[in-house]
Amino acid sequence: MTTEENLLGQVSTSWSPENLQTLDGMLAGNPIIVITAHRSPDGDAVGSALGLWHLLLASGANAEVVLPDRFASFLDWMPGTDSICFHEEDSRRAESKVAEADVLFCLDFNGPNRAGNLAAAITSSKARLVMIDHHREPDDFAELAISDPTCGSTCELVCDWALASGRWSSMSLDAAKCLYTGLVTDTGSFRFPSVSAHTHAVVAALLHSGLNHAEVHESTFDDQSLSRVQLHGFALSERLKIWDEAGIGVIALDLEDLNRFHYVSGDTEGLVNRILGIRGVEMAIFMRESDPGKVKMSLRSKGNLDVQALASQYFDGGGHTNAAGGVLLGMSMADAQAKVDEALNEWIRS
Ligand code: 5GP
Ligand code: MN
Repeated sequence: MTTEENLLGQVSTSWSPENLQTLDGMLAGNPIIVITAHRSPDGDAVGSALGLWHLLLASGANAEVVLPDRFASFLDWMPGTDSICFHEEDSRRAESKVAEADVLFCLDFNGPNRAGNLAAAITSSKARLVMIDHHREPDDFAELAISDPTCGSTCELVCDWALASGRWSSMSLDAAKCLYTGLVTDTGSFRFPSVSAHTHAVVAALLHSGLNHAEVHESTFDDQSLSRVQLHGFALSERLKIWDEAGIGVIALDLEDLNRFHYVSGDTEGLVNRILGIRGVEMAIFMRESDPGKVKMSLRSKGNLDVQALASQYFDGGGHTNAAGGVLLGMSMADAQAKVDEALNEWIRS
């Protein structure tokens, strides 16, 4: 038995024979395929979009990746980034590609509003929509919805499709690099509870395909600017507040803090996990003033503590049990901090 055959029994149950057949039907006849993902795309969004793109190109498909906006520079190394069309840079071209697609893959998001300025183009497109995602409580917007919130990353679901649809032989080194990036980033380097034996088995299969995992880690995690590392040091030493009794740690960075360290998109990635790494901290909150009057929230938790519920109740957000996000609009950082204090006090009492 090959590694791939061994893995078949454990692919996500969302890839039922009916769903596989539906997707095969959608891909028959050389349709125009567009692949998109959520705004502020992270490693899993870019990795799954490019990974699927490489897989489809290998079988001769007509496919393109269109994303709402750019991703952090630590993902620039990924093979295929030069071919991506970004809505924030060429909205007309991006919208016409989405409008003219026959099949539109929506990866790593569970509702059109997560696609930012591409949302309207997605909902009005004549394309048949395929959602592949692992966030809880998906909207009902896609003809084919592959939704598995128990799965650690969308990249794992794309690997599962390659296995279950008999396309694993199309897994090029470039595809493997992209998919591994999402597998490693969305699982906190394989540490979150969503990681399963199957996750590791998929990684083993990618290694069999020739993947050099150390290279991916180095390119993604060991190529940070000095100012980014110093921003993390500053945030942890000067801006961290610990709620001892409740086991909560909060960091808030305003525009002045960020400008001082020449902030560029992606520079605060991972900071919230540093808070969670502190002994006694069960919930970590990171707040960043992204524009005047707009504060972006990142939440993480240990065990059964549900930050998705907290994010959706108070911060107009969502995500997963242990990793969620949201936003506070129309508030200064001071107002946002007061709102968070209020929300946490209410949460602790409930
Ligand atoms: P991060 O903290 O890394 O930005 O996001 C953590 C998780 O929460 C991700 O799975 C992401 O998709 C989700 N998330 C982040 N921001 C938002 C948001 O504004 N709305 C919703 N619904 N989910 C979010
Ligand atoms: Mn994801």
